[in-house]
Amino acid sequence: MASVTFHGGVGEIGGNKFLVRDGDTSVMMDFGMSFAAEGRYFSEYRKARASNVLVDMLELGLLPRIDGLYRRDYAEHMGLAWTEEPPIDAIILTHAHIDHCGYLGYVREDIPVHCTRASELIMRCFDETGKGHQLTELKTKFVYNTNSKKPWTRLKDDKRRRDIRIMSSGKRFRVGGITVEPHEVDHSLPGACALILHTSSGTLANTSDLRFHGRRARATDRFVKRCAKAGIGLLLCEGTRISKEPETPARTERWIEREAARIMRESGGLAVCGYPMRDLDRLESLHLAARAADRTLVVDLKQAYLLDLFETHLPGAYPRLDEVGIFVNRGSWGLIDKGYPDEALAKDYDGWKRDFLNHPSRLDYRDISAGAKKYLYYCDDFSLQNLIDIRPQKGSTYIRSLTEPFDADMEIQERQVKNWLAKFGLIGSSREWHQLHVSGHGDASQIRRVIEGAGAERLVPIHTERKNEARHRAMHGRVTSVRMGRTVDV
Ligand SMILES: [Zn+2]
Repeated sequence: MASVTFHGGVGEIGGNKFLVRDGDTSVMMDFGMSFAAEGRYFSEYRKARASNVLVDMLELGLLPRIDGLYRRDYAEHMGLAWTEEPPIDAIILTHAHIDHCGYLGYVREDIPVHCTRASELIMRCFDETGKGHQLTELKTKFVYNTNSKKPWTRLKDDKRRRDIRIMSSGKRFRVGGITVEPHEVDHSLPGACALILHTSSGTLANTSDLRFHGRRARATDRFVKRCAKAGIGLLLCEGTRISKEPETPARTERWIEREAARIMRESGGLAVCGYPMRDLDRLESLHLAARAADRTLVVDLKQAYLLDLFETHLPGAYPRLDEVGIFVNRGSWGLIDKGYPDEALAKDYDGWKRDFLNHPSRLDYRDISAGAKKYLYYCDDFSLQNLIDIRPQKGSTYIRSLTEPFDADMEIQERQVKNWLAKFGLIGSSREWHQLHVSGHGDASQIRRVIEGAGAERLVPIHTERKNEARHRAMHGRVTSVRMGRTVDV
């Protein structure tokens, strides 16, 4: 009998870790971080100790206790059990949001990770431009360099690539006795998939995160139809926004595109925007809106890096770098406007940024100031200092394409953002910002559409708060509410 053990992602939004066992085969669907669970113990100023990270995380119940699952350098250093044979056959990632893939960095590198090409590119971008998630490549730690002439020299730069295997929507593959069918769905991140797993005792589907109001609604539709055809025994169904009734008029990604274009046409100065940096469908919406308003979207260096990866490996999927502007901010010494030669300027930036310094699409604050009406300038909440250089002129406007705050911390952040925008005239006492955002998750009517369309025999609510599970019950006759660590038969 096949079964699913829920090591996260039940009674909470995110942190999905679903272990499916069928005879000798076991696969983990997602290995995500739970923001809520981490937030119970940790904050920006108090984290798991790097020297003891696995023990700290296991002690607090943030990682599941599975012998041999974790990377050898950490496990040996921290005195945990290690097995030559990995305890599971594969990890299958639905998408590269941190609450689905964020704990991959703790896992040993020889366990195959199946994911879409887009997910792999996003994880590479995390690794190559960010602070050590180690999603695609591990950097060995706690090992001495035995060849060194100096004793006790710590081994550095020993990198190990993870065994990543690219899966494609609609193409089945096997892991031991389990057949896996990934299906593209509409979500706020490229490459997001739902999964159908065929086991010896029945068929299981995992919606992961999905919606019908983005640019790929038809993909979600195809997944639901495929579920109906496959005959699903057990449906793991997300409910992030199951308590939200539909908005009227309907808010969609296309609505954002239309409204943003209108706002930009009416603006007599610079248009500034903030949106989730890896949501390339949103980037596409704002790129098209800017074009319709005779403007060019100006992205930051991280987005340029991500677009460059997509242009190379998935050409045609998203705007090319020659269709957008690339904003180069001040580097570590701020040499950008001080007349230094190229070699000196290059040293002002990390290696991955240097390719963009002489790119034909490159712009800096002087270009944005001088040509304000030609641009839609992307400025995330952590780069508002660039406004000090740009000095937006009168008549400039701000489009906020981000979620509204849902906790006290976010409210404090939002107040600071407003202070910056008010300081530079992008909002005023009688002039709010333009809030244009839609969620990555379907509302009540959309989740009902998934549940009714899929026609599964039984349902387990995932990716939702415990109090919302009653909503699933109202939509399906056989709902099982699962506690963390519990197992359900397929
Ligand atoms: Zn997600």
